[in-house]
Amino acid sequence: MSRTIIVSNRLPTKVLRTEESLTFQASEGGLATGLGSIYRQEGNVWVGWPGLFVEDANEEAYVREQLRDDSMVPVFLTEPEIRDFYEGFSNSTLWPTFHYFSQYATYEQSHWEAYVAVNEKFCQAVLALAGLEDTIWVHDYQLLLLPAMLRQARPEATIGFFLHIPFPSYELIRVLPWRKELLEGMLGADLLGFHTFGYMRHFLSAVSQLLGFSSQNGQIETGARTVLVDAFPMGIDYERYVQAAASEAAVQHEAVYREALREVRVILSIDRLDYSKGIAQRLRAFELLIQRYPEWREQVSLIMVVVPSRDQVAQYAALKEEIDELVGRINAQYRTITWTPIHYFYRSFPLEELASLYRLAEVALVTPMRDGMNLVAKEFVASKADGRGVLILSERAGAARELSDALIINPTDTGQLAEAMHDALVMPEDEQQLRMGAMQALVRQYNVFAWAKLFMARLAYSKMKQHTLA
Ligand code: UDP
Repeated sequence: MSRTIIVSNRLPTKVLRTEESLTFQASEGGLATGLGSIYRQEGNVWVGWPGLFVEDANEEAYVREQLRDDSMVPVFLTEPEIRDFYEGFSNSTLWPTFHYFSQYATYEQSHWEAYVAVNEKFCQAVLALAGLEDTIWVHDYQLLLLPAMLRQARPEATIGFFLHIPFPSYELIRVLPWRKELLEGMLGADLLGFHTFGYMRHFLSAVSQLLGFSSQNGQIETGARTVLVDAFPMGIDYERYVQAAASEAAVQHEAVYREALREVRVILSIDRLDYSKGIAQRLRAFELLIQRYPEWREQVSLIMVVVPSRDQVAQYAALKEEIDELVGRINAQYRTITWTPIHYFYRSFPLEELASLYRLAEVALVTPMRDGMNLVAKEFVASKADGRGVLILSERAGAARELSDALIINPTDTGQLAEAMHDALVMPEDEQQLRMGAMQALVRQYNVFAWAKLFMARLAYSKMKQHTLA
């Protein structure tokens, strides 16, 4: 029987060390939900790091055994590996480069070597499991070399790869000292998936300019093989957000917030702390709104959730400071005894509370400088049961390709962003419902399960095609 093996840097379960024992915490992230329907099927498995540094062989065996019952196989990484492969090459070289922040990228040979070594480690873990007939689906920028490593060991394997972040213009890729190796690594797959056609075109262009392989209709001829490339915009578990927003808990939380805020209208922003998210620019735009339109003072507040992330890295710590200062300054300047311009939270919220914030907000402000997809935009849409609410969305989020009924803005244009907030606040209800209804139909149909199914079907097709051509 052929099986499917999912491979990603992190497993969908995190193992935590408490004083006397280890606890296993299931992730509720979008990927875990979307692929849950695949890896839990008989015989299938998910390979990845469990988020824990094991202390000895006994502990390793224990974790392995516990995870096995839930169709997972751990790849254990050491502290130096996490430092150099994950925080180093993945998050300090690839992440900034792929999000058009090359000025933040570091180019350390030792980080590259760790990246190669960890991809090799993942390769060995997959090979120990995979039979000749199995389908292997590799995820994201931490494992760009894995498809080719697997291909070398198993020339006949069916290998898919999906990139969850943007693929940038060739001009960004060419800056990387290891650009050819990275592209060759990806080309080990039979099918390469991206969120948008734009990312896909950038990839094809980089492959043509750096490796000299031409392509037609999303098929790259490498000489040895044909590689299919396509766009698969990832969705959310739509019903989960509909239900969370309709839940008793969410309604109750909303009532408490509403009482505290009185009549004040709410603009919402939710992000992980990251320089790609445009958080500081958004704050400046909100300030401009209340400068240009003083009538909104006392009437509108921004609720801003920033989820702590990577704050050990210098750029993230600096960004946190910049945000803290901006919020402090704007609030100090404009607040009154009865009105707080910005309610700022630097922590994460459980699903029911997020859902209540989505319910409460009339406007969602999703304005990243660059974002592979952006799921918050889709979650807001799914949560607006009455069809009211306005989404303001950056043209540089992958989601903007699908959600064309949002108010689409250029996040560096502070003036345009302030005007969009004003427009959203005065938008007639019937226009809101028209736009929201169209977006809901789309997000409901192309949910995360449809995404996974489409990718798997296309992967099977790409393999069939390889066989026919051979
Ligand atoms: N999120 C969360 N708790 C919070 C705030 C956000 O679980 O307090 C979730 C949010 O619901 C969304 C995800 O974090 O599913 C963020 O995904 P997105 O694609 O927007 O950005 P990423 O962080 O992957 O760059």
